[in-house]
Amino acid sequence: MNSARALLKDRQSDEVLNALAEALAAKGHCHRNSSALAEAVAHCSEAAELFAKLGNGSPESLARSQWGIALVQLGDLSGGLAQLERALNLSIALGDEQHVCDCWVDIGVINNMMGNDARAIELYAQAMPVFERNDDHYHHATCLSNAAFAHTCWGRREREHGNEPSALSHFAEAQALARRAIALAKLGDDLDFLTLRYVTLAEAEREAGDLAACLKTLETQLPLTEKLAAKRTQVLCLVRLADALAARAEQGDEAQALAHLTTADVLCQSHSLMETHGGVLRSLTNLHEKFNRPSDALAAFKRFHDVEIHIRTEAAETATKTLEARLRVEHIQRALDLANQREAELTSLNTRLRDQQFALERLAHVDSLTGLANRRAWLASLENAWALDAQNLYVYLLDLDHFKEINDAHGHSLGDEVLVATARLVEAAVGSAGQAGRFGGEEFVVWMHSAQPADASALANRLLTAVASHSWRSIAATMKVTASVGWCAAHTHNTPFAALTTADENMYLAKRAGRNRMIGSVLATP
Ligand code: GH3
Ligand code: MG
Ligand code: MG
Repeated sequence: MNSARALLKDRQSDEVLNALAEALAAKGHCHRNSSALAEAVAHCSEAAELFAKLGNGSPESLARSQWGIALVQLGDLSGGLAQLERALNLSIALGDEQHVCDCWVDIGVINNMMGNDARAIELYAQAMPVFERNDDHYHHATCLSNAAFAHTCWGRREREHGNEPSALSHFAEAQALARRAIALAKLGDDLDFLTLRYVTLAEAEREAGDLAACLKTLETQLPLTEKLAAKRTQVLCLVRLADALAARAEQGDEAQALAHLTTADVLCQSHSLMETHGGVLRSLTNLHEKFNRPSDALAAFKRFHDVEIHIRTEAAETATKTLEARLRVEHIQRALDLANQREAELTSLNTRLRDQQFALERLAHVDSLTGLANRRAWLASLENAWALDAQNLYVYLLDLDHFKEINDAHGHSLGDEVLVATARLVEAAVGSAGQAGRFGGEEFVVWMHSAQPADASALANRLLTAVASHSWRSIAATMKVTASVGWCAAHTHNTPFAALTTADENMYLAKRAGRNRMIGSVLATP
């Protein structure tokens, strides 16, 4: 967990956050098992909030239920209920039937603790068929004995309201359910679980007035619970037994009850069983009271009071730790948001830079008006063509005739359109045999590779005809455009630039000879 936190300082990523959340959840679970409830709440709540931010519903639901159960154990019933209900809704949304049932059972227990026994029984009844269908004896038995306990509680309240017949029917129902739970628990090999079901049965027997049955059940189970490493069940058994003995009050029962409660008291202290300890001290107080020992009763009650204060203090600490955990999550989330925002900004900046670079590169090589290679790029391509095959290389220069007049007559922007159209004609005329470029103004250049000497003058003629016969009327009704072309074979020259100079000279010759014509030379100029 600490390594995940350390990693977070360098790298805010979902994987690292998820690893942290998993570590927190695991640690929270361990704390809950070892009754370090405040720590369990702090870890599980932080894990749940992190999973929530990550949108990781399934572990979030598990962490939330652990959080809720730990809160309940600390006495915060409504806080625990809120978390378990969120866990339930998440599991329903995820279609996780198993966890839905677990949540129903846990929410049932809280309802039972809040005195809503009917609601608790309803929730257990919802979960039971699913466990039964899955042959999950453990959870099925849990539901049955939880329902038995709820009926016992319900019966007690009925009795308090003077409704004895209803109370008795609840106690009978409780016994029947507890016996079914015991039958199922016997199929497994969890002794703690089984003996605890017997304690539930004994409580119902006791309330039903069957003190003998109750004592028999508890006396058979007590030696079994003594073998268990976890002492809670033994303590519960001792307390119930002491209460039942105190109620029977036959010869020796009082001393026996006191001995049981003393054992339970010691066990609670040596095993830090805080929640159970309160009940033990309460029973001890009652016993002393019943047998007329007021000063012992007062001493036991004071200790009961201390335990209660301790539990409340722990609950208050928990609330603080939960708030701290929530703050930590918010802090991590803010850092993560900031990192994501920075990353997004960097990405968009990079894209803009790449686009600009691309545009700049294009500008450096491409003539912006016509899209042809500009002077620089075209000269570079001419050098390449020369290096590749100077022997079969031809160079052309095309200059529009009287272009100044075209501009004057039709305006500069129509002049531009003529330049763009000419670029397309030149490009099409040379095709894949070579490369066209705009040299500047109304001057275009072309080089071509061909092993057929006849192709050389053919391209010059194609260039001329393309311009002269183009339908310029689409630009302006009265427009006519021609060009003059000078060309030469490169192999008669020492450098590509020397060839270009000859082509230029030939173009001027063509101008002087009356324009709209081509002049070329395949032999070295003198
Ligand atoms: P010649 O037949 O002797 O080549 O005559 P010309 O008028 O074509 O030649 P000159 O060099 O006198 O004029 C070229 C004109 O081309 C002058 C200039 O305004 C125009 N020009 C140069 N670049 C552009 C351009 O990008 N767009 C437009 N519309 N005109 C341009
Ligand atoms: Mg010119
Ligand atoms: Mg011109």
